Amino acid sequence: MVYKYDFLIIGSGVAGMSYALKVARAHKGKVCMICKTSLNEANTYFAQGGVASVTNLLKDNFKKHIEDTMIAGDYISDPKAVEQVVTMAPEQIKELVNWGVNFDRKDNGEFDLHREGGHSEFRILHHADDTGAEIQRGLMEAVRSNPDIDIKENHFAVEIITQHHLGARVTRRTPYINCYGAYVLDPDTQKVDTYLSKVTVMCTGGCGAVYQTTTNPVIATGDGEAMVYRAKGTVQDMEFVQFHPTSLYHPGETHPAYLITEAMRGYGGILRLPNGESFMEKYDKRLSLAPRDIVARAIDREMKTHGLDHVCLDVTHKDPEETRHHFPNIYAKCLSIGIDITKEYIPVRPAAHYMCGGIKVDLNGCSSINRLYAIGECSCTGLHGGNRLASNSLIEAVVYAETAARHSIEHVDEYDFNDKVPDWNDDGTMTNEEQVLITQSVKEVGEIMSNYVGIVRSDLRLKRAWDRLDLLYEETENLFKRVKVSKELCELRNMINTGYLITRMAIERKESRGLHYTIDYPVHAYDKK
Ligand SMILES: Cc1cc2nc3c(=O)[nH]c(=O)nc-3n(C[C@H](O)[C@H](O)[C@H](O)COP(=O)(O)OP(=O)(O)OC[C@H]3O[C@@H](n4cnc5c(N)ncnc54)[C@H](O)[C@@H]3O)c2cc1C
Repeated sequence: MVYKYDFLIIGSGVAGMSYALKVARAHKGKVCMICKTSLNEANTYFAQGGVASVTNLLKDNFKKHIEDTMIAGDYISDPKAVEQVVTMAPEQIKELVNWGVNFDRKDNGEFDLHREGGHSEFRILHHADDTGAEIQRGLMEAVRSNPDIDIKENHFAVEIITQHHLGARVTRRTPYINCYGAYVLDPDTQKVDTYLSKVTVMCTGGCGAVYQTTTNPVIATGDGEAMVYRAKGTVQDMEFVQFHPTSLYHPGETHPAYLITEAMRGYGGILRLPNGESFMEKYDKRLSLAPRDIVARAIDREMKTHGLDHVCLDVTHKDPEETRHHFPNIYAKCLSIGIDITKEYIPVRPAAHYMCGGIKVDLNGCSSINRLYAIGECSCTGLHGGNRLASNSLIEAVVYAETAARHSIEHVDEYDFNDKVPDWNDDGTMTNEEQVLITQSVKEVGEIMSNYVGIVRSDLRLKRAWDRLDLLYEETENLFKRVKVSKELCELRNMINTGYLITRMAIERKESRGLHYTIDYPVHAYDKK
């Protein structure tokens, strides 16, 4: 089958849905949004802490938010991207509210603002401790009730279409690569259909699932980065993987591992060893409120030094009623596994959480491939630099949904559908035996990435990861050529590609910077011990 849409959006998290609503409003053509499982299975749904935006103008201002973002990013963020996100944030918060998203307010009607690690002021808008679920709910209602948006759940984008599919030789030096749409696997027919588009927007989210333990859902396999990289587009900063310092330690729950929000440390939570000793004073004067990378490395080091499976987060000194009120979901989750957080420590450990790099885009969300935009976690706008400031990603997605929508609405009429694109060749068969190979290889990718490309890296570890991934790459590409495509096989391919990109860029960065920490290039005195 061949479908034609003016705007083809791949992904239904905050990025995809915001963009869809914005372009649908402009009535400039047909809009289609596809997602690989159900509409709500997205990283967005899992966000807890909130959305950063300068709101309390008595104390806060853009300059402070910009400075906090630059510090967290280890001063390699793109200042223009930082300024754009920070200054456009308040307007985009209004847009979210107008679409029906609720943020908590105080009795006087003002937003109830939290403060999180790395923020110098209270500027985190939130909805209790399930902000992402509320954003996803609000946006899902808005897109579902919008007749101008075609929603296709359980549809898997296999590849984006470029002139390569028309027989042209495309390399990384080809000056004008065009995107004509995407090949998409239909779950009902198990056939790959051709989606021709004038504009294609990659909103595929994160890639935490390439690691063994992650706060991301299983869908986060880096599909967008991998598809664009294979199409010879530019991907950058992939070495900067953020590990959230505090996921709930509960053996067996690893994809996603339950997140204990940063806001809990902002609220006064103290990191301790299981024997009650606090340890952050050894690492940073901001103690438990230090940025994520410092806290994650400190925890990693304490766990390794003391041979622990986890450390602890302590809120037992806080008012129990207040704790239950502010963190109802965390309270209930911990209680469900026998921990009353008002009386006992919470066992926590780091987990892969957020990809700062991704598909390189400009201020309008345009990628290096013509007619292809990227928004949200799969993109690399330059906002995060070496490390993301807490709660800066949801807001980045809505701001870039706005700039990309404006830009694509302005240019869409310049493009035509390319009717010469051939159908997908779906020769081949898939047997159960091959399914086993896929499952085992997925496990291997997780092990390789966690063991050798984790919080603490070295040249030797990275080289080992590279060699192991190379082997998996060869095996999987051979399999891909022989069998019918399936979601599982495509995800494995994408995970290997994404793992390769993280590893290669980590090898190329000959310094410890932001989230990329290697013992071959130490930065802090305590790391040399
Ligand atoms: C536990 C957790 C807590 C977080 N807390 C915060 C927070 O407090 N504040 C903050 O700012 N950020 C937070 N983040 C990060 C933030 O949630 C994400 O960066 C953001 O939601 C990403 O949105 P997105 O729209 O880019 O992608 P997602 O929300 O992940 O959506 C991706 C979409 O792409 C689709 N997709 C992927 N591949 C394909 C394919 N091949 N074919 C078709 N569809 C595909 C998926 O089905 C999905 O619909 C948190 C993340 C996690 C995991």
